[in-house]
Amino acid sequence: MKIHEYQAKEILQKYGVLTPKGIACFTVDDAVSAAKQLGGKIWVVKAQIYAGGRGKGGGVKIARSLDEVRLRANEILNMRLITHQTGPEGQIVHRLFIEQGVQIVKEYYVGLVVDRSRQRVCLMASSAGGMDIEKVAAETPEKIHKVFIDPIAGLSQQQAEDILQKIDIPAPAWPQATALLQDLYRAFDDTDASLLEINPLTLTTDQRVIALDAKMNFDDNALFRHSEIAALRDLDEEDPVEVEASKHELSYIPLDGNIGCLVNGAGLAMATMDIIKLYGGNPANFLDVGGGATAEKVTEAFKLMLCNPKLQAILVNIFGGIMKCDVIAQGVVVAARDVQLTVPLVVRLEGTNVDLGKRILAESGLPIISADNMADAAQKAVIAANA
Ligand code: ADP
Ligand code: MG
Repeated sequence: MKIHEYQAKEILQKYGVLTPKGIACFTVDDAVSAAKQLGGKIWVVKAQIYAGGRGKGGGVKIARSLDEVRLRANEILNMRLITHQTGPEGQIVHRLFIEQGVQIVKEYYVGLVVDRSRQRVCLMASSAGGMDIEKVAAETPEKIHKVFIDPIAGLSQQQAEDILQKIDIPAPAWPQATALLQDLYRAFDDTDASLLEINPLTLTTDQRVIALDAKMNFDDNALFRHSEIAALRDLDEEDPVEVEASKHELSYIPLDGNIGCLVNGAGLAMATMDIIKLYGGNPANFLDVGGGATAEKVTEAFKLMLCNPKLQAILVNIFGGIMKCDVIAQGVVVAARDVQLTVPLVVRLEGTNVDLGKRILAESGLPIISADNMADAAQKAVIAANA
């Protein structure tokens, strides 16, 4: 799960991380009052969307007067912000963050991620922070320094100072910067984050480091123990189809192909997408209906797939283990009638009560294309999609 920058900063402040003062708002008038309340002479008006690269896309702007705050807020609120992370369709801006402007001496990058192969959290840092960090990672990866953190000991002072030295943070800033890195790690660890990025971390004129941007992602599987974080979820920022899927406990991920896949089990779903590719087709989605798929769940799954205008065929691939094939077949028949299916439907069933299941499909009167195995199913789906 993702959250907005201002929410990440609120969490980090609780751990002692220094950030500029800021106020989140939903209207232009509130943006102006927020700037008044913050005081000072320079403000930054920042679009709050679940994607980075906002600065380059015109979603982060400096304002030097309250009038200018109004002007910038007006420009940014409700704009369709397109960044390298939003895709070409962009993301509409519904929230703003008004922040005190900080005089930047130099921009650094600091990030924390889970490194699966080492089974540790990796702290990454670079002196080349700011809006071009992707380019740095791609072209000069040696400028990104890494340290792997012992889960019991946490980030040691020695490790923190080593990395501060490597990224050329001036020594007078080290005590505060060390504490900041340790606070970041504690925040990451406590909240079951999967990613925490401060880009830029900035050196101030009084030799301190301050987080000007903050991005946090969390492990969905740990959200049950962080209800305060789960409550921050902003459905405006998520793909409505994925939101609908999660309501019905379906794992659904849209892709760019034209063959919809409805499968039970994530492994079988991956294998189904692979075999579609093998026969020259392209999956329109990943969809795992899980072990206990009911007729209602299958109907919802069909509806989700049919939201996709590119859809040309559907491949249902079910292994009846705990779930019996006749139950699934009934579900498919009910769902296909309910949604008035307009694209060809290929069904491959295997496992418990398979014969009964196939009979139900055959006797339904629906134009279902039955397949005997995965290769057969994939080939038939590719032909149907291209017809
Ligand atoms: P994004 O990474 O989505 O482009 P940032 O929050 O990093 O958004 O903002 C882009 C740039 O704007 C930063 O790299 C920094 O140079 C500048 N900036 C952001 N916040 C402030 C602030 N409070 N004061 C001064 N400059 C800022
Ligand atoms: Mg940034």
